[in-house]
Amino acid sequence: MRIDILTAVPELLYSPLNNSIVKRARDKNLVEINVINLHDYAKDRYRSVDDYAFGGGAGMVMMIEPVFNAIGKLKSERDYDEIIYTSPDGEHFTQRIANQLSLKENIIILAGHYKGVDQRIRDNLITREISIGDYVLSGGELPAAIITDAIVRLIPGALGDEQSALSDSFQDDLLAPPVYTRPADFRGWKVPDILLSGHAAEIEKWRHEQSLERTKKLRPDLLKDD
Ligand code: SAM
Repeated sequence: MRIDILTAVPELLYSPLNNSIVKRARDKNLVEINVINLHDYAKDRYRSVDDYAFGGGAGMVMMIEPVFNAIGKLKSERDYDEIIYTSPDGEHFTQRIANQLSLKENIIILAGHYKGVDQRIRDNLITREISIGDYVLSGGELPAAIITDAIVRLIPGALGDEQSALSDSFQDDLLAPPVYTRPADFRGWKVPDILLSGHAAEIEKWRHEQSLERTKKLRPDLLKDD
């Protein structure tokens, strides 16, 4: 799988993409991730990627040309399954979308900045718009990193234990059960006996019950049929 992230502030993406599971997946060649600096596609000597908004008003707007040229170059080299724009008014990012995207071959993610991107980019170049929540961030880099992380950990081989992603929250619309590690007794705070019993089937049953209970209590909306 290949993910190309277009950004005006590449530095913001460095740490999330070069540590932990994403780094390991990149090192194992399970995913190729490229951070593309939109300033490299600017036309003027200041390497500008933003300009004033037509009609006036506060805030700059990301220009169409650098984005068009960057996407054009990528598309001339391979086909893309999705060209995603991160936007507060996009569809809400969920585990279901992460699952879908993890099955794709090539994805572009455009991180917006300033007041947003020229609407013609959204109308003509973007295939999907994704929000990571109902709040406004300064740029799309953190959303792009979040989307990338959620996708990459689902690629077979990215996690140490293949089953781990399947038991995370939101897979099967359930929250994850509680987890514990040593010591089994910390100042009288004990780990549930069942987890120390060695009965794999019973432990599995207990975990499922815990998942259901937590979901009913904390996120009953997940249990409703869509
Ligand atoms: N004027 C825009 C609006 O009100 O919808 C917000 C622009 S925001 C300051 C700059 C960029 O950050 C956006 O173009 C988008 O790419 C990104 N962004 C901000 N919040 C986001 C969110 N909740 N989800 C995804 N992307 C977001």
